[in-house]
Amino acid sequence: MKVTFLGTGTSDGVPLIGCKCDICRSKDKKDKRTRSSIMITHNGKNYLVDTSLDFRYQMIREDVDSLEAVFYTHHHADHVSGIVDLRSLNFVMGGKIINCYANEPTLDNLKEKYEYFFTHTQLGGGLPKVLFHQINEPLLIDDIKVTPLKVLHGNMNILGYRFNNLAYITDASFISDETLKLLEGTETLILGALRYKPHPTHMSLQEAVNISNIIKPKTTYFTHMTHNIKHSELSKQLPKNIYPAYDTLKINVL
Ligand SMILES: [Zn+2]
Ligand SMILES: [Zn+2]
Ligand SMILES: [Zn+2]
Repeated sequence: MKVTFLGTGTSDGVPLIGCKCDICRSKDKKDKRTRSSIMITHNGKNYLVDTSLDFRYQMIREDVDSLEAVFYTHHHADHVSGIVDLRSLNFVMGGKIINCYANEPTLDNLKEKYEYFFTHTQLGGGLPKVLFHQINEPLLIDDIKVTPLKVLHGNMNILGYRFNNLAYITDASFISDETLKLLEGTETLILGALRYKPHPTHMSLQEAVNISNIIKPKTTYFTHMTHNIKHSELSKQLPKNIYPAYDTLKINVL
């Protein structure tokens, strides 16, 4: 499996609109962060975690012309808003429907927010063709075992996902022992690490390092980072085998 980091930024993205801080003004491409999402490519098929607010730009940047499925973490705007542009991929795939997986609260929210996808009131302005599925149990797609991972984002029940030995968890502030058990044997861990200072609904860098030390994957990548984090500085500060991800980074995993 190949993983492409489509975006590695928090909900505002980096740079923030109007911000004049050093990191927002940084010339380093690794300090430019679109909203968080990854693409997994396996046997010529593409799978996404989330359709971010920057989905259209990310798909064009990576020259993507096909998509099998989207796995949603939760319904916050930075993670779902690109869903409206799935219609472009439906179109280039000759009308093929895209399967979208999420937990119940996220599905309820998506169905309400995007109710017009399913109500054909007038002709014109193509609608995304998606099929929503609730995911509660592990699922086998191709030869990828997809395991939903229940985590807390403040008091919200959201999902991370394990794809064989790769795990992706963003926006979590708490991971239960039950979920940690499902993460045993993870080789590559992608984890949201918001900023240096603690936050009520996200893990800080130190909390994310602690979780990585519990799971003990071979390699950990941090994502969903704010404009307080300078890539080159954080790279030097992190323990061995933990790296800050950046937009366009591609890694191969088992
Ligand atoms: Zn987020
Ligand atoms: Zn800034
Ligand atoms: Zn969120």
